[in-house]
Amino acid sequence: MKEFLFYLIFGLSAITYFVGLGSLRKTSRKGVIDRLYFLSAMCSAGWGLFIGLVLMQTDENLAALFRAIGMLHIFGLLICFTYMLVFWSNIQGRMKRWTSGFVWLSALLYPFVIRRENVEFEMTAYGMSYRIRPGIFSVVYVVFCAVVAVNLFCLNLHMLRRSVRRRERDIAYSLLLCVIIVGFGCALDTLLQMIGFSAFPVSTLGQFVAQMVLCQTYLFYNGSRVTLENMSKFVYYSVDEPVFLFDETERLCIVNNGATIFLGLSAEECCKLRLEDIFVLERDAFKFRGNKNRVEARCWQRNNICSISIDKIYDDYQDIIGYIVIVHDVTERVRMLERLEREKQRADKANEAKSAFLANMSHEIRTPINAIMGMNEMILRESAEQSTLEYAGNIQNASKTLLVIINDILDFSKIESGMMEVVEEPYSLRTLLQDLRTECIMRAEEKGLALRFIVPEETPSALLGDEVRVRQVILNILTNAIKYTMKGGVTMTVTYERQTPDSVKLFFAVADTGIGIKKENIGRLFGKFDRINEEQVHAIEGTGLGLSIVDRLVHLMDGKVTVESEYGKGSVFTVELRQKVAGEETVGSIREQPRQQERQEAGGPLFTAPDARILAVDDNKVNLAVIRGLLRKTKAQVTCATSGGECLEAAAKERYDVILLDHMMPGMDGIETLEKFRALEENASRDAKVIVLTANAMAGVREMYLEKGFDDYLSKPIEGKALEKLLLKYLPSALVTENEE
Ligand code: ADP
Repeated sequence: MKEFLFYLIFGLSAITYFVGLGSLRKTSRKGVIDRLYFLSAMCSAGWGLFIGLVLMQTDENLAALFRAIGMLHIFGLLICFTYMLVFWSNIQGRMKRWTSGFVWLSALLYPFVIRRENVEFEMTAYGMSYRIRPGIFSVVYVVFCAVVAVNLFCLNLHMLRRSVRRRERDIAYSLLLCVIIVGFGCALDTLLQMIGFSAFPVSTLGQFVAQMVLCQTYLFYNGSRVTLENMSKFVYYSVDEPVFLFDETERLCIVNNGATIFLGLSAEECCKLRLEDIFVLERDAFKFRGNKNRVEARCWQRNNICSISIDKIYDDYQDIIGYIVIVHDVTERVRMLERLEREKQRADKANEAKSAFLANMSHEIRTPINAIMGMNEMILRESAEQSTLEYAGNIQNASKTLLVIINDILDFSKIESGMMEVVEEPYSLRTLLQDLRTECIMRAEEKGLALRFIVPEETPSALLGDEVRVRQVILNILTNAIKYTMKGGVTMTVTYERQTPDSVKLFFAVADTGIGIKKENIGRLFGKFDRINEEQVHAIEGTGLGLSIVDRLVHLMDGKVTVESEYGKGSVFTVELRQKVAGEETVGSIREQPRQQERQEAGGPLFTAPDARILAVDDNKVNLAVIRGLLRKTKAQVTCATSGGECLEAAAKERYDVILLDHMMPGMDGIETLEKFRALEENASRDAKVIVLTANAMAGVREMYLEKGFDDYLSKPIEGKALEKLLLKYLPSALVTENEE
């Protein structure tokens, strides 16, 4: 009987150790309760072990030693249990301090509890037993135990009263059961001896039962906490994506709702499948290196395109126990990408067709205008008849307007189709402003308007940016201001703000005293083909495209354009542009350039060069006649060729200083001719400058031609002045005499 009791106690103690240690295997983060539970299990097991050892002893001194260690575990268990109750009952403040503080009195009592004089040992039928000697100490000890028991009981009642949820009430009942079992055990321990029974370790056995109940409570509590282990189940079932769990033999064992919906089968039917039964896959999809594999595959049942990620699942020893397969249905995305790709190709084709059309149109329209303007210029130069000169003057004005409109439409189409690019090159703001002034002063004076430029002299002049576009924007605003002002004047004020040492923000504010714009119309200003104040402006030339081009160009250059206007009084258009600074040079004072055009129109050409030899190449004979006519007064020797072949032949045979080469020619075009010309072995015109003459005036083509190897570019219709300027630049200076007039 005695041995049986020893083995029973040691066995129970061993079980308690195992159960306690088992709680350490929990993978998620350990909290207060986890630690307290572990300590309580260790104390409970220690209690059993050492009281068991006491029972086995025949020597009182050894029994006293084991009892002392056993008591340490008993008090430890008491403290852990009290703290667990305090935690679960969620009491706060004074009550919490009192309850948890009181149990620590056991530390004070401990030295008295283990004193040999206070304990009496005796051998009983169940082994070595002991009792506390009556006296003041035994009274204190009993009172302490009673207060702790009442404390625990009250905490339990408090918990029961406060518990709202069923799970809280269940925990409270379980803990109450623990308190009752241990309390009952302790009471029996003393009572049995009082009524003459041999001391039997009821409390030691009882606390094992209480510890098992506590273990159940702990497991129950853990099961209803938000932990990774608990929640993964919910997450698994709640995700919409199909998730399949395969075991290590690659058999499907668990599917979530998303998976059953995806396959249109019941969970049982799904579980008969292998991965290859669901997707069109190579065999051995699970054989891969690393932890994760992602494959694209088509689903057999529904023909969906899926992106499948396969993750290996491991046990604690890092052996594979299965695979988790998550399926992303990407059918819609793939189809959309295919659709987008098709649409992009279609748009690219349309865009290409559009730019080809624009280039073509540019060419087709410019070629006849070239003839009209060129021939007309010759009439202007050579006729002495006043009425003929007047008619020709009108033709010239109308052609120029037509050209501006064509240029606007081409620019606009180019911007709209996203083909307009801004380039960054060094330019002089001073020259730009002087040119603008020269260009506008005549128009202003013709209308009796004052044109003023206010530019601080220290404004940086050496800038980096797209000069052509900056010029186009400001010229447009200035011409509008002059166009829509009947009396008074136009003032352009340039200001700047230094942003960094090498960048500057420029403000070009063009103020006029013109017709002004109504407030409600300001928003429409930058719309395409939108002319406002129709009743007032219908007599003024315009297409309504200018400002929308300005707006888009300014945006392309990362700037902005703003308008302030008072109807009937005038407007201020401000263009804000950030430009890089390329040097120290400043603008200084702005004066208009000498009026070359007037000089040219009034008198002779810019230069004479009777020894200069120029080869003009164009398949259109009228164009050749225009060039010849325009250069007649320069006395330069102009030879004509009507094809690339003729050009090469002539250039190889005789020296030419400049070759004016058309681009679009049947057979060998200008670019091919240039390539062959450069490759000629015997070439008398090796040093000749080659200037492309083309009716293709789309923005950006200049750069393209320079890249192809031309020395310069001149667009048709050819202006006499522009042609002369270019020749002045490229003809050897020894052959040229500049006209001083
Ligand atoms: P266009 O001048 O060819 O008609 P714009 O796009 O340059 O086209 O201008 C659009 C409209 O804005 C013009 O028709 C005119 O009514 C108005 N506008 C532009 N500039 C001014 C200005 N300085 N003063 C008054 N109205 C202006």
